[in-house]
Amino acid sequence: MSIYTCPHCGEKTFNPFTKAMAGQLNSKGRPCKKCGKRCVNGKGATIFNAIFSVCVFATVIYIYLHPTIFEIPQVIGLILALFLVPRLVNAFFFRLTEAIRIDLP
Ligand SMILES: [Zn+2]
Repeated sequence: MSIYTCPHCGEKTFNPFTKAMAGQLNSKGRPCKKCGKRCVNGKGATIFNAIFSVCVFATVIYIYLHPTIFEIPQVIGLILALFLVPRLVNAFFFRLTEAIRIDLP
């Protein structure tokens, strides 16, 4: 089973881009092209992103406490990484799962 397989209908309806945009367990997810049910990146992706965010914040605090002349570019780079890395990881790793968040209309 591919990581781009819809957990609802079993069809390979996702690609790296749509999977990256599906978000994690705490997001609304992205509807499957075939069955229309919402899918999100599962526990693995969610845990990775939580750990990654903590590491980035720890590094930002470290830079703040130990300033260098590269402080500003380093912090900008880290903030960019905070947005880009989880999306790249979602695009190429971890399985999709059913969206559990229910949004009332
Ligand atoms: Zn589906």
